[in-house]
Amino acid sequence: MEKIKFATVWLAGCSGCHMSFLDMDEWLIDLAQYVDVVYSPVGCDLKEYPDNVDVCLVEGAVANQENLELLEEVRAKTKLLISFGDCAVTANVPAMRNMLGTAEAVLKRGYLELGDCNQQLPYAPGIVPELLDRVTPIHELVKVDIFMPGCPPSADRIKATIEPLLNGEQPKMEGREMIKF
Ligand code: SF4
Repeated sequence: MEKIKFATVWLAGCSGCHMSFLDMDEWLIDLAQYVDVVYSPVGCDLKEYPDNVDVCLVEGAVANQENLELLEEVRAKTKLLISFGDCAVTANVPAMRNMLGTAEAVLKRGYLELGDCNQQLPYAPGIVPELLDRVTPIHELVKVDIFMPGCPPSADRIKATIEPLLNGEQPKMEGREMIKF
């Protein structure tokens, strides 16, 4: 049996969705019989996202230039892209800064108005990724194939999404636990 090329990606999120993924506990051993993890911050931390990935879970919103470039690369190289958790689906907590306006306004608020020492704007071009003016959910930028909401999605919901895909079926979100947020 040819294994599914499986990836997970971490954009602007707290990593809680990945922690919930690990909460699938012993089912991860079953999953390993069906998938090769080809890219993931919790299993295969390669520098480059590989070609021809079958399924990718994308955690986090798009908040900076690096997030945006990685998301576009992931979309171009992935057959089935899953928006993984509320930060990816709605932009959630990272989007709270949108209330302040542009990236410049956010930096001024954090480093000048609220900074209590060494009050100056950070300047590290080429080292720290440039903030985008607005934090966005991933479906505003690329096509998403499946949405998996939750902050984080429970381990049961993650399993209920992935398990049918292993058999070439579409996941169904049925039952109170699957649709309660
Ligand atoms: Fe963290 Fe919740 Fe965002 Fe997942 S959806 S990355 S758990 S804040």
